[in-house]
Amino acid sequence: MHQLDQILSEVAGYYPSADLALIRRAYQFAAQAHDGQTRKSGDPYVTHPLAVAQIIAELKLDVASVCAGILHDCVEDTSATVDQLGELFGKEVAFLVDGVTKLGKLPYSTREEQQAENFRKMLLAMARDIRVILVKLCDRLDNMRSLNHLPPEKQERIAAETMQIYAPLANRLGIQWVKVELEDLAFKYSHPHEYEQLASDVAKTRAERLEYIHTVEKLIAKEMVDNGVPCEVMGRAKHLWSIYQKMKRTQRPFEEIHDAIGFRVITDTQMHCYQGLGVAHQTWTPIPGRFKDYIALPKPNLYQSLHTAVIGPRGERIEVQIRTGDMNLVAEHGIAAHWKYKEGRPVAADDDKKFAWLRQLMESQKELRDPTEFLESVKIDLFGDEVYVFTPGGDVKALPKGSCPIDFAYAVHSSIGDHCSGARVNGMIVALRYQLRNGDTIEIITSPNQKPNKDWLKLVKTARARTKIRWELRQEQREKAVLLGTDLIDKALRKHNTSMGRAEKQLLLAAKELKCVTVDELVIQVGYGKITPQQVLEHTLPELKKAEPEPVKAESMLKTLLRKVTRNRTSSSGIKVAGEDDILVRYAKCCTPLPGDPITGFITRGRGVTVHRRDCDKGLDLDPERRIDVEWDGLGKVQHEVAIQILCADKPGLLAHISQSFTDQNVNISQAHCRATEDGRAVNTFHALVKDLDQLKSVIRSLSRIKGVFSVDRVAADA
Ligand code: MN
Repeated sequence: MHQLDQILSEVAGYYPSADLALIRRAYQFAAQAHDGQTRKSGDPYVTHPLAVAQIIAELKLDVASVCAGILHDCVEDTSATVDQLGELFGKEVAFLVDGVTKLGKLPYSTREEQQAENFRKMLLAMARDIRVILVKLCDRLDNMRSLNHLPPEKQERIAAETMQIYAPLANRLGIQWVKVELEDLAFKYSHPHEYEQLASDVAKTRAERLEYIHTVEKLIAKEMVDNGVPCEVMGRAKHLWSIYQKMKRTQRPFEEIHDAIGFRVITDTQMHCYQGLGVAHQTWTPIPGRFKDYIALPKPNLYQSLHTAVIGPRGERIEVQIRTGDMNLVAEHGIAAHWKYKEGRPVAADDDKKFAWLRQLMESQKELRDPTEFLESVKIDLFGDEVYVFTPGGDVKALPKGSCPIDFAYAVHSSIGDHCSGARVNGMIVALRYQLRNGDTIEIITSPNQKPNKDWLKLVKTARARTKIRWELRQEQREKAVLLGTDLIDKALRKHNTSMGRAEKQLLLAAKELKCVTVDELVIQVGYGKITPQQVLEHTLPELKKAEPEPVKAESMLKTLLRKVTRNRTSSSGIKVAGEDDILVRYAKCCTPLPGDPITGFITRGRGVTVHRRDCDKGLDLDPERRIDVEWDGLGKVQHEVAIQILCADKPGLLAHISQSFTDQNVNISQAHCRATEDGRAVNTFHALVKDLDQLKSVIRSLSRIKGVFSVDRVAADA
């Protein structure tokens, strides 16, 4: 029978009122368009689209899908256009062919798992109609079936792509037989030796296995029927790829994989499924932990079945799946199984429930009148809030919908984002406000002079881009503040016949008095307008000095704080806060200040005042409005825990020396961590209790003098 007639009779079989004439015309068009082209096998090219259509018909899809299968390579490989197909075969067919053509153009290189997942999502998002994916899957299946005509390196690439992208897609859509065949074909070309070996192992035991299958089938069927469960039993070997996976997972050779055969019991009703399970468990011993009820709890792709494993008649493990004929159809055909409802059958009440998963899957916003309409017209919006685009190197980036080239640039690298001056999308220059679309390939144009600007914040969608832009803008402001502050201070000083250069020392003093750690910070504060040039002047040239104004905000917060803190707390902290000595004080863990260290306090709501060392990075990051004057009161008898890191040679006796040194200085060690490095040295971190900076300094001095000690450093206690 001619390939076309086979397709026609197949379609007529499941869809009696199908427009077979349209399929015939599609064939005539494709045969003419591909005339003169041949496949690598030497066959006329049109045998490929026909084979694809044949698979589509096996999935029992609609006429538009079958036509799309026949015409799927016309736009790509012949002079036909999408518009032409639309005129001749209708918009639906043209839309499907266009979709398949676009998917075929996506560049693919072997990817890591995460990239592969993004690529699969991109395919689904781009297809927009599930039938586009189904036609594409059938196309891929036929390509895999005829892969032996291609050179080995092409085989390997296509096999890898099939394994990473198309077999998982078939699985996600629940089309088991396509998934299984794709996996075995990909296995054959990606691991030829392992495949051959396993295939021959399986073949050698074939007769024995068939006999075994037959025996067990009959045994199960007899038990079932005797107990009132009408059924059909089918046993078959698992597919090679899954056996191979199991061998790898369990590190066992083929001979020791005993459950390579599974049995399937197909019965008529759900009730009989559960009854059948009872029969199986009564007849053979069930293996604990292997029972799964996918009938009560279907898989997300609607798969339903009971699974169990028992000890079979020869003492071997047997996997048994029990389900109804309907469930079996879904298990084999997945999403494609639902097309059968198109054929004017009464729509059952629970169909709505059946399609709920699909609806969820696709997050369709459309109001649907019935599931049939849904399947016919659904535009996939599976990952509606994301868009998938390529880097010039072929990586897939997932970005929120509405993202622009700037988002993409920052997703690649922050320095590319910072210097992004333009973008090329699919080779064309676009504006930075261009909204990225699925499948776009983006190339960012950078310029060393480009800087982020405020308008970018209105364009970007990603948090990453937003944060980076804000940070850059703040840096820029800071630079401006430096220029402005320098200018203001210098002008003020020049009025009094001096300059920043000449008044360097006085400025440093002024900075400290104004609670700035460095002159640079003072300059910035002036630039921001937090400190006036007049204040700087008064502190730099004391002869002009008047009363220093208190920071208003900190003062009022302090009053609130004072009301909260109990009056009779004893001054055990050793700290005076703004002249008061009974404030709740904590020492910052990051810098562990000691009496003698220059310090700054920060008001922490509800936790009193936290004391940092003046030069502590964390302290510098805190809100200057909360900063408050603190000083050591010299009365504290508090022991302070500090951390000291000692880098020394890893040799015996040295540790004893070190600890002796602590004892000599009358210092207790509260914790010690010692670790040898690979280069024969040791890193020791000691937590010690000291009373002030002087004591710490003398400990450090005496430790440094020990022979074999390379360095002694005070480190953060929380490091
Ligand atoms: Mn093709």
